[in-house]
Amino acid sequence: MTAPQESTTPKSSRKLSVRIACDCGYFTQTKVLPGESAVRALPCEHCGAELQLKGLEADPRAVDDAGGIWSCCVCAHPELFTRRDLPQKLGIGVVVIAAVLAPSTNYLSLVAAALIDCALYFLMPSVATCYVCLSEHRGYGPEPTHPRYDPEIADRVRFGDKAVMGAPMREGGTANAPEPHH
Ligand SMILES: [Zn+2]
Ligand SMILES: [Zn+2]
Repeated sequence: MTAPQESTTPKSSRKLSVRIACDCGYFTQTKVLPGESAVRALPCEHCGAELQLKGLEADPRAVDDAGGIWSCCVCAHPELFTRRDLPQKLGIGVVVIAAVLAPSTNYLSLVAAALIDCALYFLMPSVATCYVCLSEHRGYGPEPTHPRYDPEIADRVRFGDKAVMGAPMREGGTANAPEPHH
């Protein structure tokens, strides 16, 4: 199969990647194109069960033409939380090197390490995770934004609307929702 040619449509060339969570506990990764709008199925790389990207056909569909993400590509649930994708090994590596250099740099290396970790944090792409199926999305557009993890939403998703005193789901899910207060 040859690679598809760059088309002249205004669609973003952004490539989203989705890690689909399977019931077996493993993730299967796939690419999703901006504006993709038909349900797609693929087998779990671990157990072979059929996984479906149902969100692509949902309303509103999970991924718009600019690569913005409105709901989970997999289960179409509109609530996602974001976090930075800082590889833990990298963060620890910086600290270890700084500690080794500390005596010879008057401990300035530790300050540098803190700054580097901080910069890495902001440079790392963010990951949007579905509250319901835990599938992860990367490489999506800057709009809409999704706030960080909110335990109130997680509780409601897990126990149902009636089980918690928390607020009901926000219209449109977490797209452009404010950050949680707690
Ligand atoms: Zn599986
Ligand atoms: Zn989902």
